[in-house]
Amino acid sequence: MRIVIVGGGVLGTMHAAEAVRRGHYVLQVDRGPGPRGAPVRDCGLVRVGGRADGAGLAAALRARELWERIGRDVPGAGFRATGSLTVARTDAELAALGDLAERPDAAERGCKLLGPDEARAVDPALRGAMLGALWCERDAAVEPRTVLPAVRERLAGSGRYTWLPGRDVRGLGDMRDVGTASVRDDRGATHEADAVVLCTGAPPPGWVRGLAPDPPVRRVRLRMLRTAPPDEPLATSVADTAGRLLIVPGLDGGLAVGDPRACGEPGPPGADEADAAAYDRLRDAAEAVLGRPLPPVRHRWTDVRARCADPSRIVHRERVAEDVWLVAGAGERGMTCSPAIAEDTADELGL
Ligand SMILES: Cc1cc2nc3c(=O)[nH]c(=O)nc-3n(C[C@H](O)[C@H](O)[C@H](O)COP(=O)(O)OP(=O)(O)OC[C@H]3O[C@@H](n4cnc5c(N)ncnc54)[C@H](O)[C@@H]3O)c2cc1C
Repeated sequence: MRIVIVGGGVLGTMHAAEAVRRGHYVLQVDRGPGPRGAPVRDCGLVRVGGRADGAGLAAALRARELWERIGRDVPGAGFRATGSLTVARTDAELAALGDLAERPDAAERGCKLLGPDEARAVDPALRGAMLGALWCERDAAVEPRTVLPAVRERLAGSGRYTWLPGRDVRGLGDMRDVGTASVRDDRGATHEADAVVLCTGAPPPGWVRGLAPDPPVRRVRLRMLRTAPPDEPLATSVADTAGRLLIVPGLDGGLAVGDPRACGEPGPPGADEADAAAYDRLRDAAEAVLGRPLPPVRHRWTDVRARCADPSRIVHRERVAEDVWLVAGAGERGMTCSPAIAEDTADELGL
């Protein structure tokens, strides 16, 4: 089958990879020169040990297996089985982590409660005061700046994949003209397909809103900064118990420091980035866990993502026209769950 994927983010790229893996011919189109937004600008944490349960946990566990396979096939993805430590600094936090460690699915997630010395034996760079930490062995990281180009390069080697950047898709073609599903781009080209998958992120372009006027997803913004490499590298990813802090070491040792909770509706352009107090809180939280000043900050930004309105759902998948599907709403778990979401889409479409 010929599959057209609109969107070059992690969701679109994992759909392309899954379709190619199943033997189909894939054209992937993105309006940017490469992926815009989170794929090159997120923390890259593959998180199994968080609080997600039900469908969220099942998707994260499956995705973790798939990321490991991708990591073996595509070294440029920078997959590392780093594990993560979630640090408790108060008795209440320690009790909350203890509850997580006692859950029936703790072993499946690879989670275990450690005392401060045990936690520092796992990651000696954690010098801040702590009462204990939840070690999540199955958490992993990919390199957000290289993973998508590396996967695309690998797909191109199949001879069944074409990457078409710099094309803004303006709408669907007319079925009566071409006889199959198709999309039209800003240069007047029509791309025909047996199936079209729209992974256009947030906010969706107007023509996608026309096809799916009221999808059960909402826009949220997430905040992040990236530092120079610290003197003492971090061995693991690190989180706080409140869920306000995530620190993920990159391949160069630099730290991605993010607030993984959605911080609400996006503000006016530039306002979120200019919110110095919010970045100060993020830096303070990181420094408290690390027990020393953060290395110099190289970039900071907020970015908008689509998240399912129902928090128990990991993605919204909807047939919006004949042979055309919209897949959106992976929110703050998109990097983690995309490979599993793409597998489910392929099953649902019968690819
Ligand atoms: C600061 C931050 C940190 C994060 N950290 C993590 C993390 O550690 N772990 C994790 O699991 N998740 C994380 N996430 C979430 C994750 O990054 C997102 O869920 C994921 O990137 C969403 O991918 P996407 O492909 O759906 O959307 P996007 O990345 O927005 O991609 C959509 C693509 O579609 C293209 N497009 C849109 N319209 C058109 C059109 N008309 N024609 C052609 N192309 C079009 C856009 O150019 C874009 O490239 C983080 C997010 C942020 C913002």
